[in-house]
Amino acid sequence: MPEATSKHILILGGGFAGLQAAQTLEKIYSKRDDIDITLISEKNYLVYTSMLAEVVSSSIEAKHVVIPLRESVRKTTFKELEVKKIDHDKKAVTCIHPQTHETHVITYDYIVIAMGSKTGFHNVKGAEEFSYPLKNLADAMVLRSHVIDMFELADIEENHALRSSLLTFAIVGGGYTGIEVAAELNDFVDTSRRFYKNVKSDEVKVVVIDPGDRIMHEMSEGLAQYGMNLLKKRGMEFHLNTRVESVGVDRVVTGDGDTIKTHTAIWAAGTAPQPVIAALPFADKKGRIEVNEFTEVPGYDGVWALGDCAVVPDPHTGKPYPPTAQHAIREATRTAHNVAAYIDGKESEKRAFIYVTQGMLAPLGHRSAVAEIKGFRFSGFFAWFMWRAIYLGKLPGWDRKIRVALDWFLDIFLPKDIVQLRFLIKPSQSPPEDEG
Ligand SMILES: Cc1cc2nc3c(=O)[nH]c(=O)nc-3n(C[C@H](O)[C@H](O)[C@H](O)COP(=O)(O)OP(=O)(O)OC[C@H]3O[C@@H](n4cnc5c(N)ncnc54)[C@H](O)[C@@H]3O)c2cc1C
Repeated sequence: MPEATSKHILILGGGFAGLQAAQTLEKIYSKRDDIDITLISEKNYLVYTSMLAEVVSSSIEAKHVVIPLRESVRKTTFKELEVKKIDHDKKAVTCIHPQTHETHVITYDYIVIAMGSKTGFHNVKGAEEFSYPLKNLADAMVLRSHVIDMFELADIEENHALRSSLLTFAIVGGGYTGIEVAAELNDFVDTSRRFYKNVKSDEVKVVVIDPGDRIMHEMSEGLAQYGMNLLKKRGMEFHLNTRVESVGVDRVVTGDGDTIKTHTAIWAAGTAPQPVIAALPFADKKGRIEVNEFTEVPGYDGVWALGDCAVVPDPHTGKPYPPTAQHAIREATRTAHNVAAYIDGKESEKRAFIYVTQGMLAPLGHRSAVAEIKGFRFSGFFAWFMWRAIYLGKLPGWDRKIRVALDWFLDIFLPKDIVQLRFLIKPSQSPPEDEG
């Protein structure tokens, strides 16, 4: 517990924003004993989400895309707990241990909220029950196992229609994340198909469904179109201007009355607020925390919020900064300095968060990608190489960098790992019945 005389900074959420805030605060207060920092997160690792799609496609070993939080901090005390309630009047956070459910109440003087968001199913019927989200490590491992399971089932299935539905993979959401997953999956099914003698190439299909009139709306239209044409050439199907009405165990029904027969709907169609955040008196209607340019919560002294759970205003555009890791990390560094300025009474050292987005890179499988960096556009192999170099460079920790680089190297020469871990199958997915 913190000393009675010392000040306690509590950081909630061990993602990109929370960890970066903790690391920056440790540096600022490395020589001070009167400041205690605690980081709370429900898991003891950070998920490097940018590489999750490659876990699904077996290009990277699952454990290599997570960063152990305890090893990443020094002065900070880490606690693996799930936050249940934040009571700023009492300056206390109620948590439970994820396994034992034992309650822990942690008090603070200053609080930094960085709890991210969760997958948003937007009340689409059956989506939460039957689709596969891709937000954390468990999601990636479950999805990978399910995809292999579909191939195993298809290989022994004699009914052509059922075999096709087992081998159709639908991605709901054609944004950056959806396309990345779709492209990786397309590569995976392409290279793994040869191990399944009864699976015919025309039965395997990757379909992207999006309500917009184009994919990857985060990127310029030209690059998005280039990406779509490339993926179409590789056999992928696109249903644009199409909403998903419902998801079932063996189908996706769209707004235009179409039914896509599939046992795999991957949900990449948006986020929802964390319930703990949505319940806060200072949450907005959408359950996020609106902050000022210093990432402070207006009207609530000693509270900062950042990353995906916050709405951080961009002074250049008047709109909020996009919810990306790129922004969360920069917001965290600025927030930590602003917290220190506040604690040390140096208000003049407070600075607004101003950041110009560096760009976007989207891998498209088959060693190709599209990239838009500082106004310059790249595509093909060079963009793919840049993607790998930049993301490997940003991956925290030398051990993780080496492990991922080795995985990539071996992936060039070795076949995809198609070992099926049955214990990872999602319980709601019952075995398919004969569709006649
Ligand atoms: C598949 C995928 C690919 C992506 N690719 C990219 C990319 O290439 N580039 C990019 O810039 N962005 C990418 N993003 C977006 C990026 O991951 C997010 O913007 C980023 O993670 C936000 O950081 P954060 O710290 O705000 O939230 P998170 O990283 O989500 O961290 C929140 C943390 O809070 C913890 N937490 C939540 N609730 C509780 C609770 N009740 N109690 C305790 N702990 C809790 C969570 O476990 C988590 O550790 C991708 C996202 C996904 C899903």
